Amino acid sequence: MIETKEFDYEDRIVAPQIIKSDSDDAERSLRPKTLSEYIGQEKVKRNLSIYIEAARKRSEPLDHVLLYGPPGLGKTTLSAIIAHEMGVNIRITSGPAIEKPGDLAALLTNLQEGDVLFIDEIHRLSRSIEEVLYPALEDFAIDIIIGKGPAARSIRLDLPKFTLIGATTRAGQLTSPLRDRFGVIQRLELYSNEELCEIVQRSSLILGAACDRDGAYELASRSRGTPRIANRLLKRVRDFADVMGDGVITKDIAKLALDRMEIDPLGLDSLDKRMLTMIIKGYGGGPVGLDTLASAIGEEAVTLEDVCEPFLMQLGFLARTPRGRCATELAYRHLGILNDGQTTLEI
Ligand code: ADP
Repeated sequence: MIETKEFDYEDRIVAPQIIKSDSDDAERSLRPKTLSEYIGQEKVKRNLSIYIEAARKRSEPLDHVLLYGPPGLGKTTLSAIIAHEMGVNIRITSGPAIEKPGDLAALLTNLQEGDVLFIDEIHRLSRSIEEVLYPALEDFAIDIIIGKGPAARSIRLDLPKFTLIGATTRAGQLTSPLRDRFGVIQRLELYSNEELCEIVQRSSLILGAACDRDGAYELASRSRGTPRIANRLLKRVRDFADVMGDGVITKDIAKLALDRMEIDPLGLDSLDKRMLTMIIKGYGGGPVGLDTLASAIGEEAVTLEDVCEPFLMQLGFLARTPRGRCATELAYRHLGILNDGQTTLEI
């Protein structure tokens, strides 16, 4: 029987979502401030730099931007960079934080000409808030209802011209009227090991942690294509280097530390392995529906979908079919399980 347990992001060093240990000053210092400091995502950067330059030349605010992709890839960072490059302020909020139309109206009426309003998890805005947002995005105005009952009347309030930057991990959940109001839609991709290696080297310089290239590469290659995870692992591996070595993060120290943290050479942790093992051993390799799988391993379906699946699919370990999820031959091989269900390695 495969062991299951309640899962908390705080437990998981490779969670791409923000966890407590991320929200300190050191973390903030790691955020690149300009497009040239922002590593990778070349296509997105190339396009954005043209749009930014054109808007600046015309002295107009940038068109509304939608950034989508898995968590931890740099959507918030990129939005702050856009505001910085445009020379304007940024106000940061999130879909679930805007509860009433009045909350959004207060945010919008406090903006200054050209400002960026960043809404994270924009797919979680309620319909009634979205209704307020449409005229704000299109005509830079909002309609406010004053009074109640038959005496109620609506007045239109002009807003400064602003740029909305929406970020989402689930572009498919955005309503089409909202999606259609973004002039620029960009998808962020998981980073290559080389790009992550550069990010680790940049971060180690900022943190004052000595790290050689092979050490940085070892760390990068176990970071699931995600800068947030790379930075987090760097901080933990630095602890190992300080205590068990001479303070320098070498390949050997990185390996030792990451093995101790139970992150395997490709970046899989115990949750990924539990998911794949359950598909293979519990459901003959699949197909198995996401909800069935989630309850079999005692995990939320959204966590598996947002966190494990993009990475496992990128590795070619998991296939999504209309009938459910299937483990691929590569997954069997990586886990050391023969395709007849026998285990060759202890996992
Ligand atoms: P998201 O909003 O997509 O969840 P964030 O913008 O919060 O991700 O990025 C997470 C962390 O990863 C940031 O604190 C930043 O230090 C780092 N980061 C993200 N993208 C890059 C990049 N392209 N270059 C360097 N560091 C990055």
